[in-house]
Amino acid sequence: MSDLILVIDEGTTSTRAMLFAPDGKCLATEAAELTQHYPEAGRVEHDAAEIWDKTLAVSRTVVERAGGADKIAAIGITNQRETVVFWDRGTGEPLAPAIVWQDRRTAAICRDLKEAGNEPAVQAKTGLLLDPYFSGSKIGWAMRNWPQLREAGDRLAIGTIESWLIWKLTGGLHITDATNASRTALMAIGSGHWDDGLIELFGAPGAALPEIVDCAGSFGVTTLFGAPIAICGIAGDQQSATIGQSCLAPGETKATFGTGAFVLTQAGATPPVSRNRLLSTIAWQLGGRRAYALEGSVFVAGSLIQWLRDALALIGTAQETEALARSVPDNGGVYCVPALSGLGAPWWEADARGAISGLSFSTGRAHIVRAALESMAHQAHDLKTAFAADGVDWKLLRIDGGMVANDWMAQDLADMLDVSVERPKFAETTALGAAMLAGVGSGLFRDLNEAAVMRGAVETFEPAIPDERRDARLAGWRHAVASVIESA
Ligand code: ADP
Repeated sequence: MSDLILVIDEGTTSTRAMLFAPDGKCLATEAAELTQHYPEAGRVEHDAAEIWDKTLAVSRTVVERAGGADKIAAIGITNQRETVVFWDRGTGEPLAPAIVWQDRRTAAICRDLKEAGNEPAVQAKTGLLLDPYFSGSKIGWAMRNWPQLREAGDRLAIGTIESWLIWKLTGGLHITDATNASRTALMAIGSGHWDDGLIELFGAPGAALPEIVDCAGSFGVTTLFGAPIAICGIAGDQQSATIGQSCLAPGETKATFGTGAFVLTQAGATPPVSRNRLLSTIAWQLGGRRAYALEGSVFVAGSLIQWLRDALALIGTAQETEALARSVPDNGGVYCVPALSGLGAPWWEADARGAISGLSFSTGRAHIVRAALESMAHQAHDLKTAFAADGVDWKLLRIDGGMVANDWMAQDLADMLDVSVERPKFAETTALGAAMLAGVGSGLFRDLNEAAVMRGAVETFEPAIPDERRDARLAGWRHAVASVIESA
């Protein structure tokens, strides 16, 4: 019987293949780490060929573990968003490095566009702001700076990561789903179509872009695993986690702490309009109908812990941070503002750079590590304030992502946000969301509500600190963040 779902979860730091049963049980996982290229300050690139090779390899392993492709009903794909890939339709090979979502090389382009007064129109159409984060300015920069893209003419194909993977899996289908398209700044999110004015504004070649499709359906077939398997679910990672956390009713909110941190509140059938520099984005599109979300994106979360490990050698493993944070009674006056690649929502300061402040001779390694972990709740608190100002109060926060394995951090989030924090026992909600979509697309489930049976048990963390303690921490953070913004 073929009722298993293969999920491809192509993240920033790793690419994974996972096998799900229709009850949500994860039967197999295989992952491969991805090389991060930092060619110069503020630039982050991936090798799309490496992404494809590793994705195919981990998928093949998982298909074997399933007992062969004929056991698999459908493939679901979820991916790091905004990252752009440029390839040749003739050879199917990349023509340039993939420019990663964290890359800030287009900060000046975005600033010029903003100064020329374009932001209100861009925000009204796309729900996004003029920031290097989104794909549009990255594509424009690449077209101007990489002659091989212009020389490729009609052979040039451009897409976000899911488009690239689908092209490779199917041997030439060029599609993107509405959630991924909504992050390019080239799509009018109300209409669900590419927008000619935006394409012109950013200098993107419209003909190279993929066709925008739903998040669930039957999109094409891959024959790379021995027997044909249909691709039935597609969503950007944060939208997929929103679905995997079963945030299916307006007001329901999730926060994912992976490389970056992303909070999304489901907002119903009308695009929300933020007056507090949050993003309005497509949560999913099914049967041509879209649900929207309000989003706060923080660029640096788990990557801060990686930096403490790899660049500073302050810790040996990410897991160690929990015991270190517990080893001191408080942060000892140390605050960390993790603006290592600028500040995202609600500040949007592309040029801001990070700071560790409040150091004294009594500061130890544990204080710095604790301050780094605390900065997650601080950043989340800034988002909570912005969401509230946009009329969205969080009653409960559903958390996931690699960082929330850290119990100390999960409790700190509840303490600082002053709301209940819910953590599913099965933390891979991003992959789960893609499995739910593929389940709907392949007909295993009628709709997302029915597919929500795949989400299992949860643990809850309740706020447990006095208001004075929270207020003192927040005052320290506000001071630290203000000086970072001042010197940007
Ligand atoms: P992504 O999907 O963005 O690649 P993940 O959700 O897999 O990221 O999360 C990985 C991140 O979580 C890494 O940056 C790592 O530093 C961080 N991380 C993993 N375990 C812990 C932990 N116990 N405490 C704090 N951070 C952690």
